[in-house]
Amino acid sequence: MSDRSLQQNVEFIKYADQYKMLSGRIAFADMPRVAELLASSNGSVEAELKFGRDEQNIRIVQGRLTCDAELVCQRCLGNVITHLETTFVLAGVFSDEQARHLPKDYEPLLLVNGEVCVADMIEEELLLSLPMFAYHSNPDCGDISADADNDSLATEAEKDNPFAVLSGLKLTK
Ligand SMILES: [Zn+2]
Repeated sequence: MSDRSLQQNVEFIKYADQYKMLSGRIAFADMPRVAELLASSNGSVEAELKFGRDEQNIRIVQGRLTCDAELVCQRCLGNVITHLETTFVLAGVFSDEQARHLPKDYEPLLLVNGEVCVADMIEEELLLSLPMFAYHSNPDCGDISADADNDSLATEAEKDNPFAVLSGLKLTK
């Protein structure tokens, strides 16, 4: 159920120089490293990618990933659907040396033979944005139909500071 356009290697330089855009879906089932962190590999991530050059002529890809991922609630061990939305900017580099000279807002994207595997890039970014822990928004966890929006707000806040979750754990003991 993944779009073919995302399951390919693309010539990064060409895509950036032509300001190409790619969008589509990749099934969690096609991303083994993500799937193993999920309660269920049902579903997919929606990706929008914009290749281009910035004002310093650095070739970049800007991405936005959106998905509803089924995670395991760490309180009741039931499944909790967590809405995730993440954006990123990656700059194509050919070497570690080049990566070190990037502006600090950019993450390096190491090109192999000038190419990037789009699906791998998306999987990598999704792995970085998955919350380490997920919880139902209802502290009693009795109501599985708990508001999904509240869940996503909670995980969004926790994402910035993984240790916030740990202090939360102590409080609930
Ligand atoms: Zn729960």
